[in-house]
Parts: sequence; C-alpha cells; structure tokens
Amino acid sequence: MKRILVTGGAGFIGCNLIRQLVRAGHCVLNVDSLTYAGNLSSLNDVASQPNYAFAQVSITDFASVHREIQAFRPHTVFHLAAESHVDRSIDGPRQFVSTNIEGTFNLLQASLEYWRLCSHSDQQQFRFVHVSTDEVYGSLGSTGKFTETSPYDPHSPYSASKAAADHLALAWHSTYGLPVVVTHCSNNYGPYQFPEKLIPVVILKCLRSEPIPVYGNGQNVRDWLYVADHCEALEIVGNLGQPGQTYNIGGNNEMANLDLVHLLCDIVDQQQPRNDGRPSSALITFVTDRPGHDQRYAIDASKIHRELGWSPKQDRSTGMRDTVRWYLQNQSWWQDILTGKYRLGRQGLGASTG
Ligand code: NAD
Repeated sequence: MKRILVTGGAGFIGCNLIRQLVRAGHCVLNVDSLTYAGNLSSLNDVASQPNYAFAQVSITDFASVHREIQAFRPHTVFHLAAESHVDRSIDGPRQFVSTNIEGTFNLLQASLEYWRLCSHSDQQQFRFVHVSTDEVYGSLGSTGKFTETSPYDPHSPYSASKAAADHLALAWHSTYGLPVVVTHCSNNYGPYQFPEKLIPVVILKCLRSEPIPVYGNGQNVRDWLYVADHCEALEIVGNLGQPGQTYNIGGNNEMANLDLVHLLCDIVDQQQPRNDGRPSSALITFVTDRPGHDQRYAIDASKIHRELGWSPKQDRSTGMRDTVRWYLQNQSWWQDILTGKYRLGRQGLGASTG
C-alpha cells in the first residue's frame, strides 16, 4: 500500500480517483483549495476512512504545499488541481495562469526538494503524475488522431496554461531527474461532474425543462472517456509509467456534440419520461459559438495499451446510461450546487482534517 497525494481531489476526476485509491487500501491525502469546482460532499462515502485525509491548501501557496509534502512523504503524486473550464478561461485567464502554471511549478519544486532527500529505493519508486489534456494539441480536421508526438498547438487560455504546465513538468524530469510522467486525456464523463460541463448541463436542462444550449451548429467532435476508465489508467501510469514519458488516454468514442446531446435527451426520456409527452430534444437551442472553438479532438491511445496494458472498459451506451441514472439518483448533490448550498460553512484556507 502506498502513500498517495492527490491534488484537486474534491473535483470531478479527483474524487473518483480518490474513491478508487482509498477503497484499494492506499493512504491518500487530498490537497485541494476548494474553489467553486471543489465539493467535499463528493467524497462523503470515504471521508471517514482512516486511510483518507484532506488538507485545504492552494497549490499557489508554495510554503503550504512544501509543508504537506514533507509531512506526508508520498510515494506518488497525482496532480489534478487546475482551473479546468474553457469558457471561464476566456472570461478570466489570470487565475488559469496562477493555478495551472505557477501552481504546477510549486508542486514540482516542492516534490523535487522532498524527493532529493529520499532513500535511493524511494527515489526509484516515486512518480509525479501530471494530469493534462488532449486540448494542448489543438484542433484536428476530419481525420487523424493525436499521438504523444503530435505538436503542441493550444488555442484557449485553458489549454495554453495546461501546455505550459506540461513543459515545466517534463523539464523537471530532464533537468533535475524528478520521475515525472505526463498524461493527456480526452473529455471525461460520469458521476460527480460539476454542472457547468456539457453532459451534466444537458441532463439537468432536460430534468428542469429548460433550453439546452448547443454551441454553433453542434458539429464539434469530442472523444468521450468514462471517468472510472480514466482513473484506472492513472493508477496504472502511477505504478508502471516510465519517467519522462507521456501517455495519451482516450475512450475511442468520438461524437459530434449535437449527436451526444440527442443521445442524452433520449436516455433521459427513457429513464424519466416527461409529463408533457414531448421529447427532451425539443429543448435544444443553438447559441453563438465559443471563440477559438476547436473543431475536433481524437486520441490515439495505442501507446498506453501497448506499453502498460490499459484500454477503456466502458462503452458509450452503458456509460451514458449509467451517468444519466447517477444524476437522477443523486439530485441533492447537484441541487446543492445549483443553489450554492455546497459552499456554505467552508473554512478559510489552511484547515486540515484527518
Ligand atoms: P475540476 O474543475 O472538476 O476540479 C478541479 C479541482 O481542483 C477542484 O476540486 C478545485 O477546488 C481544485 N483546485 C483548483 N484550483 C486549486 C488550487 N489553486 N489549489 C488546490 N486545488 C485547486 O476538474 P476535473 O474535470 O476534475 O479535471 C482534473 C484535471 O484533469 C485537470 O487538471 C484537468 O485539466 C484534467 N483533465 C480534465 C478532463 C475532463 O474532461 N474533465 C479531461 C482531460 C484532462
């Protein structure tokens, strides 16, 4: 069993990863500042486990990050904390530079100072897994897929900040020898995704009979990966990933946004038929496209399959059905977010709970 530090563990992917690691018996420290996207109630089912602890710390605060790493002495760091919403990065890019770039620098530097003082065997075992996105590669035409050697070509302040962080992470490997591994993942979906991202937005709009906004003509294509498959890939990378290497993680599941929205409307109508008998798809409303909206992303995940033996397990129809069912069965989770109740009673930064 390992000591594993996860940043951003109160967010969508982080909470799913922590649940998996805690249930496997690892000792997990969740380092999260609880921005609007962080929600500790996503971890209610593991919060009282003796092998889980939470530290409310911002990765922009080097002294606090350094203190947590020195005290916890991790075998693995999974770095997920980030500002992650493209639309917010367009409206307010400064926070993205601060968290995604400076925060990553702080974490790398604090990890390096800790790692240098570890025993030789602990140094060999240590991994810093930097969790990045396929968006750093820019946009594809109608064919081809991103491989690990695709050139960087980020278009939004979000993807540019993630690209900068990737370069820092890999430089800390080549310059200082820190055992860094970088992952690039496609769009995730599944339980506990904050209701500002496309899939929960569509599900909740259907349930509330509100217009479903679709950017442009809805023909932008994304590759969708079920979050549990992503978390399994991350754990494998943390165990077997080779320092200095990059691994692309994808669902082999491309869909145009409009097709995805129609699929979700149909599933909601099956699982909770509407009182007025109209299809939820009648709620679809086309809205002005996002500036710099990338046309298509697709991941070639053959390297992680070939070298580390990972491939996604969940297929599109069961994954989307399970996701809709989760939002139907967990209405208080998202109602508390929509009303803002989930942010009540939060402490200021610096609190730690075991
Ligand atoms: P999210 O927005 O749901 O969660 C981010 C978490 O980071 C939140 O809990 C937030 O409180 C925390 N955080 C933000 N700023 C912080 C700071 N300064 N200090 C400490 N914690 C801070 O994000 P997500 O969707 O779970 O994504 C996690 C990671 O995976 C991100 O790095 C993102 O770039 C990457 N990624 C996400 C997707 C996706 O589809 N969601 C796809 C590929 C890669």
